Formats: sequence, C-alpha cells, structure tokens
Amino acid sequence: MDADCLFCKIVTGDIPAEIVYDGEGALAFRDVNPQAEVHVLVIPKRHVPDVGALGADPEAGAAVLAGIRAVADQLRLPSYRTVLNTGGDSGQTVFHVHAHVLSGRKFGWPPG
Ligand code: AMP
Repeated sequence: MDADCLFCKIVTGDIPAEIVYDGEGALAFRDVNPQAEVHVLVIPKRHVPDVGALGADPEAGAAVLAGIRAVADQLRLPSYRTVLNTGGDSGQTVFHVHAHVLSGRKFGWPPG
C-alpha cells in the first residue's frame, strides 16, 4: 500500500471505481477514459509499480493473469487486446502496474 498511489486508493475503496472482478490478489475495474467498448484495468492488490517489479513478485503476477482470464470469462470476450505500459515513453501514467484489457473493436498492429 502506497498512500500516494491512485490505484492503491481504489483497492482500499477510498476512490470509487466500477469494479468488474475482485479476486484474492487482483482487482479489475473499468477505465475512466475507455479506448474501446470494453476497457478494463487489472491490477495486483499489492502496490507493485511496473512490469519489472511484477516479475520479481510471482504471486502478484499470477494474480494479474488470473484476473485477466476472469474478466474475459465474465464479460464473455471472444477476443481482446492486453497492454502493460512500462515507463514514460510507453505511455505509463499510473505507477501501479495494470493490464489494460480492451475489446469490442478491431485493433491495429503495430500499435500506435
Ligand atoms: P497507463 O497510461 O497505461 O498508465 O494507464 C492508466 C490508465 O488509468 C488510463 O487509461 C486512465 O484512463 C486510467 N485511469 C486514471 N484514473 C482512473 C480512475 N480513477 N479510475 C479508472 N481508471 C483510471
């Protein structure tokens, strides 16, 4: 728990969010600025800043992957794009690691 972290405050309930999945180690909620019909963020409940740190915390990493699968099952997503931005140039703006789960339209490759 990091007192200054936006997503930690969503985990504690201090900041409201539209929760989609609440698992033992991970939480999923709707992105406030959706980039597709479905845009959900899956985060570990523990404060882990980025993918590098997530690799050092296998339990949290597994919880995020299980959360992605749970969201896809629950929302019956036939296909989806997952994105984990790492560092400023990638577009990461919140330094509590999160997997974007996007669905409901066709996605281009390479990503912009
Ligand atoms: P990133 O740019 O990869 O760090 O993604 C951060 C995401 O968090 C963006 O897509 C934002 O729209 C989203 N976001 C920021 N604040 C909130 C919030 N309070 N609730 C839900 N999503 C948020």
